[in-house]
Amino acid sequence: MRVLKFGGSSVATATAISQTLDTVLEAAKGDRVVLICSAIKGCTDALIAASSLEGEERTAAIGALSDQHALIVRRLFTGAERERLDEVMDDLFEDLAAAPSEDFQTFGELFSTRIIAQKLFCEGVNSLWLDSRDLIRTRDGQVVVEDSYRRIRQAVAAHPQVRIFVAPGFIARDERGHVTTLGRGGSDYSAALYAAALDAASLQIWTDVPGIMTANPKDVHSALTVKSMSYEAAFSLAKNGAKVLYPPTVIPAAEAGIDIEIRNTFAPAGAYTVIGSEPCGNWVGVTSAEGRITLVADYPFPVSSTLARVRSVLASEGIPVRSISVLDDGVQVEVAPQLGSAALKSVHKEFFERDSKGVIDLYVAGTGAVGSALVELVRQNSARLAEKTGKTLRIAHCVSHEAEDEEFFAKLLKEAPRHSIFIDCTDSETIWKWYSPLLEAGIDVVSANRRSLAVPYVNYREMKASALSEGTFLRYETTVGAALPILDSLARCANSSDEIISLEAVVSCTLNKILTSSDPFPEALRKAQEAGLTEKDPSADLSGRDALRKLLILAREAGIALEESDVEVIPVKGNETFTKGSRFVASLVKDAARPLGYRARIALETVPEDHPAYSLQGTENMIIIRGEFHPSPLIIRGAGEGARQAASSLLNDILR
Ligand code: ASP
Ligand code: MG
Repeated sequence: MRVLKFGGSSVATATAISQTLDTVLEAAKGDRVVLICSAIKGCTDALIAASSLEGEERTAAIGALSDQHALIVRRLFTGAERERLDEVMDDLFEDLAAAPSEDFQTFGELFSTRIIAQKLFCEGVNSLWLDSRDLIRTRDGQVVVEDSYRRIRQAVAAHPQVRIFVAPGFIARDERGHVTTLGRGGSDYSAALYAAALDAASLQIWTDVPGIMTANPKDVHSALTVKSMSYEAAFSLAKNGAKVLYPPTVIPAAEAGIDIEIRNTFAPAGAYTVIGSEPCGNWVGVTSAEGRITLVADYPFPVSSTLARVRSVLASEGIPVRSISVLDDGVQVEVAPQLGSAALKSVHKEFFERDSKGVIDLYVAGTGAVGSALVELVRQNSARLAEKTGKTLRIAHCVSHEAEDEEFFAKLLKEAPRHSIFIDCTDSETIWKWYSPLLEAGIDVVSANRRSLAVPYVNYREMKASALSEGTFLRYETTVGAALPILDSLARCANSSDEIISLEAVVSCTLNKILTSSDPFPEALRKAQEAGLTEKDPSADLSGRDALRKLLILAREAGIALEESDVEVIPVKGNETFTKGSRFVASLVKDAARPLGYRARIALETVPEDHPAYSLQGTENMIIIRGEFHPSPLIIRGAGEGARQAASSLLNDILR
């Protein structure tokens, strides 16, 4: 047996009812079904309101509800079927008009389930309407469980040929024989009672959101579906104000060991939640009710650091904490009711948007030397880093593919938690087109691929703007001088309004290696190629293309909107006269006569013996920055290549 419960919005219109019935008929292919329904959305509230009216006002309120249902009937039925159902509904509305006020609220589920049962009957399904008032019994406001279970079992056993039973949620009968309810939102509970009584193979609660989310999506737009959680965690969320589930529902299901699925009627194939006996091992959500914010854990959470995080995030938003307390499975804090919504958002952000337990998912593209070195470095160091920085890095996905791998990016955009990090270790020319969509989807980007940053300036600006608008980051220190802190130093100068007077970058590892070697040029080039030092196509080094990309990145970091066409590039041909001081230099020098205010050039130069680059060795890189505040230049020198170096630089960008 499967028990499927549909909430008020799943039966609110003829269209929604059709969608609901599609799901029910699909389920009924595999097993017999008990279908429990709520009243149509808003109906119970309207009935309660009508019960306190009198005379014509009451009649008008009942008339409005009757019209609402009649409209659904008209959409779903024609001819004799419609007439028959109209009569049934008219009788029910007459009963309502004659009922004592306190019974008004018990009619909504009768209306909705009558319509649905009739629809199933007309579709030729062997179905039967069950009267929950006769099956679920209460005493002193509590369900008499054993008696109710026995009645439900008997009713079902009496009709072995029925495929789909339809029963109203919410209503029951008390010890004096009066109709009563299981409390507002109680249809979920009715479904769980039916499921436990019948030892159902599945209990599904179909609603209008994709399962239990980390916060009410109406309040927090970035709330995410929690895929699984324990009964205890679900109970705690529900009890503290998560409207998606009526708290007592969990109890019969847990006692019978039946998983509860919370699913979305309007996206039946989409994300949903399974509630079962296994804790999910993480934070599951944050609720808010009149300034009381409850953060719920489904694991033995670290108490003192959690308290500190909650306090600090609220303090940083300027929200005063009235009180804070530790629960068995979380933390509860009171703020002024008018600050409840802001507090909810900021606690959600801290615990569910950045990383819940400090876990950061890494999505790596490119499995060449750098990508592999990064994966290795992360694996070796994750324990130490967690200890030191409180962040646990996790390689979520690693692919060799590049920009064309639509599937990888679609997956990333769809399922990566906010502030997961995409790491570009490819040398793709086109992968940059994904950067903006990722940054806008809340995913940070770290890149070792200088081609992505050497795109036309408008595209570069666009990527930066995407990051800015979403509070995500795009970092690419690795693209120039591997592990050397070059871009960071340059950005510091530029940001502190130190005007750059000149930049000299001796950043081509290949040419530095060749030019500082004692071998003649062709011989040195061959050796460099053999050592894997050149770009895949060595002419990219000699032509200055690679240096050009680096110069674009450097200049832009210094706030200069440099384009390729602004740079004079004099390629190395190999037949020049080389001297001890020959260096391939990319330079940017202040020049008021130029439109950008700078002259940019890449060429072979002979530096004098007292020039810092004269002493460069092998593949070392050097950058010399002269600024207004740095008349004596800032010089950064060191290893300019190496997969390990690049990986460590990526790791710094990840952790910074
Ligand atoms: N119709 C009832 C209510 O609005 C029960 C339910 O929908 O679960 O509270
Ligand atoms: Mg509900």
